[in-house]
Amino acid sequence: MYDPIYLISQTEGEHVLGTILIFVVPVLIFGVIMVLKSSSILAFYFNRIKYGTDITRGKYKSLDKILSKYNPYYRKLSIRGKARFLNRLLVFVEDKHYLGHEGLRITYEIKAVIASAAIQLTYGLDDFSFPMYDFFHVYPNTFQLWSSEHKMRGGTAKSEKMYLSWAHITEGFDIEHDNLNLGLHEMSHAFAQEVIEFGTHTNKVAAHFREWQEASLVEYSWIKKGGKSILRSYAAATDHEFFPACVEHFFESPEEMQRELPLLFNKLSLLLNQNPLNTKNNYRWLGNDSLQLTD
Ligand SMILES: [Zn+2]
Repeated sequence: MYDPIYLISQTEGEHVLGTILIFVVPVLIFGVIMVLKSSSILAFYFNRIKYGTDITRGKYKSLDKILSKYNPYYRKLSIRGKARFLNRLLVFVEDKHYLGHEGLRITYEIKAVIASAAIQLTYGLDDFSFPMYDFFHVYPNTFQLWSSEHKMRGGTAKSEKMYLSWAHITEGFDIEHDNLNLGLHEMSHAFAQEVIEFGTHTNKVAAHFREWQEASLVEYSWIKKGGKSILRSYAAATDHEFFPACVEHFFESPEEMQRELPLLFNKLSLLLNQNPLNTKNNYRWLGNDSLQLTD
């Protein structure tokens, strides 16, 4: 006697397999379509309904493509987190003036990528407007301003103007963990200037900035004296450079900064109300004194 299973001939086996495939494949295809559709339905919901962003499907797709290509921070956001990012970015781009120099033609891509540094830095705060900075002068590569002796990659005036090399903006985002990010660096200068000199942020943010400054004194003096640090020596070039250099390290090597300089890491998380290590939850800062955002 043979076990009945062996009685199925090869042809019958193929028939059974064929029957299974006829049912399984369409279900799989249907599943994939539903997943794809649900992500675009979700994107529609969060962009158009939750955040009320005036964005067409075509514009969403092209902007999402640009930011996914350049900005690693944006890439790790959820569909909801991206919608919040885009909502802010569109306002920023609309409000600011971008001026191309030395033959550089300003494109939407250039505007969006520069704006993405501002939105990333202030993503945990309610105010992302940088009201004291309206003019972004963009050069194809390093440049020389009339007042400077050396070629520059970027510069931030005391108010109104920022100067940026497009080549170094993209390099800053492309090379993810070298702790050099020109966009974040210059936006940090502008942010610090607004908090300290112009008082454009809330009292709570200003108080957190003072806490950060106090916490930074030890490491700043240590590097100034030539001490070895995970932060680059340029961080102590002047007291204005310490905050931007720490911000670059905070976003590009958060694990190292949390491990080696936990106080500075925590004070920056508190100030910016975000934690770059919390990639599962749109960088939400879960500390005791976290700010409640309005959106
Ligand atoms: Zn600087």
